[in-house]
Amino acid sequence: MQGLKLGAHMSISGGVSHALDSAAAVKSNAVQVFTKNNRQWAGPPVDNTDVARWREQMPAGGVEYAVSHATYLINLASPKDDLWAKSQRAQVDELRRAQAYGIRHVVLHPGAHVGSGEDAGIQRIADALNQIHAEDPSVADTLTLLELTAGQGTTLGCSFEQLADIIAKVNDDSRVGVCIDTCHALAAGYDLRNDEGYEAMMSTIQNRIGLDRVGCWHFNDSVFGLNSRKDRHAHIGEGEIGLAGFGLILNDPRWDGVPMLLETPKDNDGDGNDASNLAKLAALVTDHNRLCEGLRP
Ligand SMILES: [Zn+2]
Ligand SMILES: [Zn+2]
Repeated sequence: MQGLKLGAHMSISGGVSHALDSAAAVKSNAVQVFTKNNRQWAGPPVDNTDVARWREQMPAGGVEYAVSHATYLINLASPKDDLWAKSQRAQVDELRRAQAYGIRHVVLHPGAHVGSGEDAGIQRIADALNQIHAEDPSVADTLTLLELTAGQGTTLGCSFEQLADIIAKVNDDSRVGVCIDTCHALAAGYDLRNDEGYEAMMSTIQNRIGLDRVGCWHFNDSVFGLNSRKDRHAHIGEGEIGLAGFGLILNDPRWDGVPMLLETPKDNDGDGNDASNLAKLAALVTDHNRLCEGLRP
């Protein structure tokens, strides 16, 4: 039994490796980072001093898993050729940056078809992934994790069926995985708040995606309700999901070893509420041996 890997998205101000200090400060054993400014297309070259510090700090801080999140600007579904090509180059860059840090997973929003239609958009994403994979085979062990989205606007990837349709069109599907965001799942119509809804979602994941393909979870409560198609994250237990839903996932041994990362609001100056959100999650875990030492109640 591998136990639970819990953590949060952490700021990289001062250098990517500084996120590990923040992860260690809240005694978590997992972290999510950006490997460059997430609102810019290009970043500075990878800082080898920071990479060296990262490789030391990860074991020193007890952080067992790290995932990066790609820039929000990327749209692999874009019908516009220039943006589509730019998006591919940016995702190749994200994979290379992650690999430099030894990060094996890069979460990516699948994209928005902006009027070209679902089928065209899905084909476009798969074609883009195939080009990205051909562009740099040397990053083959760093996977793109397609994130389940809330389905706002023309955003694709708001159902496991859609994610499966994209993956089915990827030539080398060993290079893609899935990230499930709890807030997006509720907003997209998966009622994970009770046993019945959770098990229905689990069957869909097992049948369409496969549990092995799920690289990590984003653990966010949701400001808006079931099927709202709106993406607004809330603190754990303070949104429409509530504590019970998180308890179902945390205590399901099928998710053992699959990391769960907070992307909840950071509205205090200290740890940005991460410690309190992690404590709320830890308190839901019935078998305390599954928690890393720092998070045991
Ligand atoms: Zn997310
Ligand atoms: Zn979100």
